[in-house]
Amino acid sequence: MNPTTVLQAKSDPMGQAISDFYTMGKAARLRVFSSLFEEDEIPVSQLFRTIEEMPVLEQEALKMAKGRILDVGAGSGCHTLALQDMGKDVVAIDISPLSVETMKKRGVRACCLSNLFDERFGETFDTILMLMNGSGIVGRLDNLPQFFKRMKQMLRPNGRILMDSSDLRYIFEEEDGSFLVNLADKYYGEVDFRMQYKGVRGDSFDWLYIDFETLSYHAGLNGFQASLVRMGMHYDYLAELTLL
Ligand code: SAH
Repeated sequence: MNPTTVLQAKSDPMGQAISDFYTMGKAARLRVFSSLFEEDEIPVSQLFRTIEEMPVLEQEALKMAKGRILDVGAGSGCHTLALQDMGKDVVAIDISPLSVETMKKRGVRACCLSNLFDERFGETFDTILMLMNGSGIVGRLDNLPQFFKRMKQMLRPNGRILMDSSDLRYIFEEEDGSFLVNLADKYYGEVDFRMQYKGVRGDSFDWLYIDFETLSYHAGLNGFQASLVRMGMHYDYLAELTLL
């Protein structure tokens, strides 16, 4: 993805769903097509979850977030609003114009239509939050050096990234517990997605699910240290990344 890209409203299906749900209290089906899973749907109401409705990993990340906080890919602004309620200092960014417009209406005080990789967004932060399989925004394993380079620009001294992800190995697990992937193939957590909402078709995009060991290895290569904060209920985890 071009690092400065933001979405056009006409190809922003998730943003349209978020906007509809906010204005009408309901939304049509937000359909998800991918290279790995069967056709699926994202329940739009889940994008509006309150802190009580959030998975424990997300609640933990919100508790740990401190100083000036960046909520990356903030969607409807659910985490940003929860942090504001806790009295914390938070800025939201997203590439979806309709989501940014909606989060403003919902009371998000500081938000910006910007791509995480766009260096024109020059602020620095103590905590960078990437939640709801936040590693996805990195797209592919070979974007990790660029991602960590960008994080070095954006993090203040002693700052950290809090990111959740899932290890997709369960999809490739055999009944006897062995794990069958073709190592000559691309990394098994690299998925290609496309979304559709009513007549609005999004472009396809890369989304990275990464297991903790692989994250930790690449963090080390790029001057960061990963620590496992907590495991979730199903192959998911919250990691903290700090500069070495
Ligand atoms: N964090 C929210 C939304 C998750 S969906 C929640 O937990 O409910 C992922 C969001 O990331 C979408 O709103 C999408 O528009 C945004 N996004 C994707 N790539 C991005 C990028 N490169 N920079 C900023 N936001 C991005």
